[in-house]
Formats: sequence, C-alpha cells, structure tokens
Amino acid sequence: MQDTSKHTLDINAIRADFPILQRKINGKPLVYFDNAATSQTPQQVIDAIVNYYTNDNANIHRGVHTLSQIATDAYEQAREKIRAHFNAQHAHEIIFTAGTTHGINLVASGYSQLLNDRDEVIVSAMEHHSNIVPWQMMCEKTGAQLKVIPMTEQGELDLDTFDSLLNDRTKLVFINHVSNALGTVNPIQEIIDKTHAVGAKILIDGAQAAPHIKADVQALDIDFYTVSAHKMCGPTGVGVLYGKEELLEALPPYQGGGEMIAEVNFDKTTYAGLPHKFEAGTPNISGGIAFGVALDYMNAIGFEEIADYEMELLIYATGQLKDIGDIRIYGTSVERKTAVVSFNVNGTHSYDIGTLLDKMGIAVRTGHHCAQPIMKFYKIPGTVRASFSFYNTKEEIDLFIDGVKKAKSMLL
Ligand SMILES: *Cc1c(COP(=O)(O)O)cnc(C)c1O
Repeated sequence: MQDTSKHTLDINAIRADFPILQRKINGKPLVYFDNAATSQTPQQVIDAIVNYYTNDNANIHRGVHTLSQIATDAYEQAREKIRAHFNAQHAHEIIFTAGTTHGINLVASGYSQLLNDRDEVIVSAMEHHSNIVPWQMMCEKTGAQLKVIPMTEQGELDLDTFDSLLNDRTKLVFINHVSNALGTVNPIQEIIDKTHAVGAKILIDGAQAAPHIKADVQALDIDFYTVSAHKMCGPTGVGVLYGKEELLEALPPYQGGGEMIAEVNFDKTTYAGLPHKFEAGTPNISGGIAFGVALDYMNAIGFEEIADYEMELLIYATGQLKDIGDIRIYGTSVERKTAVVSFNVNGTHSYDIGTLLDKMGIAVRTGHHCAQPIMKFYKIPGTVRASFSFYNTKEEIDLFIDGVKKAKSMLL
C-alpha cells in the first residue's frame, strides 16, 4: 500500500517507546485497538513510576525530611503541569482523583447536599454509566428531577430538545465531551453557553476527549472537567477533577480523613483549603507524578499532530470497513469524531467477532461499552469497537480488516 499520509509523526520512533507493542498475543503480533478502554504506556511513564519507588518514595505534605519534600515537590509539579495543560487559572483548581468515575462521584456527592426537590438536572442519552449513575443517586437523595437530552440516529445530540429542557430550575448539566461508545465529539461550547444562559453549572466528562483534544477550561468557560490518566498514556487509578475555584469552595467535601482538615476537634472539624479539602488520605503519588510525565510525552508529540494522524487512521479504517460489506457503523458524525469506529457485521454478535479477532492477536472491545442507553437506542446488545491511538498504523488496520473478513466468513 502506498503511504499517502500527510502526518509528520515518526511512528516507528513512537512505537519504540511502547514496549508492550512488541508483544505477541496468541502467537501473533499484538494489534491493540482498545485504546478507548485504556491506552498503552510509554517507557518514559513506566520509568517515572520505577524511579519514584526506587529513589523518592515517601509520604507527601507531611514530613520535614528530605525524601518527603522531594516527593511532595514532584507531586505538586505534576499538578502544575496538569494545570498548564488544561489552562486552569490556579493549581488548586486541579484535584487529584482516582479517575473520572471518582471525580464525577465527588461532584455528585457534593451537590447531593446542595440541591432539593424543586431542582432539575440534565444528562445526555450518550453517556458512560459513570456519568449517569452517580447523578441518579444524587437525584434519589435530593428529589431533583433528571432529564435526558435525546440522541439522533447519527449519534449526535438533539440540541433543539436540549433548549426545551433548560429552564430556571435547571441547576446542573453533565455531558461527555466525546462519547466513548461512538466517538462523537459533542459541541461543548454551544452546550456550555446554553447551560450558563439559564444560570446552571456544567460538568464535562473529558475521559474520552483528553487523549485527543486539549481542552482550555478557561476559554470554554467549563465549570467542572474530569479525566483519567490511563486513557492518555498514564497509569491506572489516577486522574483529575478540574473545578472553578468558587464552585469547589462551595462544594462540601467528599471523603473525610487525613490531609483534608485544617483542625480536628471532637465538637467540630474545620476543613483544609483547596485542593486538600478534596484529597483525603494518602494519594496515588507515583501515579500523579507519572500522569505529569504522560502529559509531557504527549505534548512533545503535539495534540494537533496526534489528532490529525488519528483522523487519517479513522478515515482509512472506516472506508476499508465499509468496503467489506454487510457492516453497520454506529456513530457516523465523521467530521466530528475521535478515532473510534463502533460497528457490527450484520447477522453476527459483537462478542463472536471480538473473540475471533483476539485469536489473530487483535484487541478490540465488544459489548455495551458501559453505555447501555446508547445500545438500547439502536436496539442492539452491543458493538465491536476499534479505537485508535497515535502509535497505531495503517498496516495494523489492514491486519484488522483482514481479520474482520475472516471472522465474517467463519460466522456467516
Ligand atoms: C472511561 C470513561 C469513564 C470512566 O473512567 P474511569 O477511568 O474508569 O473512571 C467515564 N466516561 C467516559 C466517557 C469514559 O470513556
């Protein structure tokens, strides 16, 4: 195949940074197309974790001793890197969490103490379960009413209906920046502006966007933004919640414990300032530091370059898949998608296709992708989802397309 690509990335050099890409699975070279579930980890990030435990391990913000100060400095430098990446105004608006799920639960739990049964909140039909269930729990506690923005056959949000759901009782809107099941990039600027026009606040689930798009939280006027490091070349079990200072100040703490207090007495405890109020207990210190290294790694390559190359992979894969025939692709907002293609081979079950691809060394996700409402909308149990990253290649897509053809001929 002739390489007609216009990207400027040195893919071979990039691939050499990811030791796992040398692995064989079932005797075949690994083709890793499950990046939307978790991305792979470059050596630089692995080294940061090893280096931390080899040389710098100590608890942070506590000791006067040298190691504790080294660990604290490294952790706080990572927070600053993350602040700069998302262009938050203050480092204390960056709360370290265990990931997106934790960040959303933190905000939903806080609002459980602030909302009441006259309030309304709005979610979209294309959310990950972690941006649905915590809010349902909040609504059960407060009596607030949950409304849903419907989606269209193309896998886009119906913003006219969104307009009709908004009113002066709306207190919160929560929506993903990019759908994990379909790859749709939602028009968040428009959604944010409409939300603010009725005086409501918005939480954007950025888990699926952050690996591809650099969100500027000030330019977009985002109230809350959540991400997970493991979807953007960092380790599992760490992420951040960005929140505007005045909103985080007004939000009650999520967990009680060490590190989050100013003073503890048995009659009354006062809480620490931001960000510590929301960071009870010893955090994932090496994870936070490694997240900073992952951001350095991706920024050195460049998010625009990454997005351009991934778009090439998406267009190439989508065209090849359609050529196979008997394929239904879900989420066809092509010019507004990240590199995710969700599909079924007509007459087959996603699980069977995924299992056969695995035998050929090709890792894809199958099933409902933690987004059952989307599957119910399309009246299907699940899809096969291939999700690409900047370390993937067109040659891998060719192997994947051959694999889908083989699987199809075996099943039909
Ligand atoms: C992965 C994902 C989540 C959950 O992230 P965790 O790291 O599992 O907490 C939430 N929302 C979206 C859109 C996701 O893709």
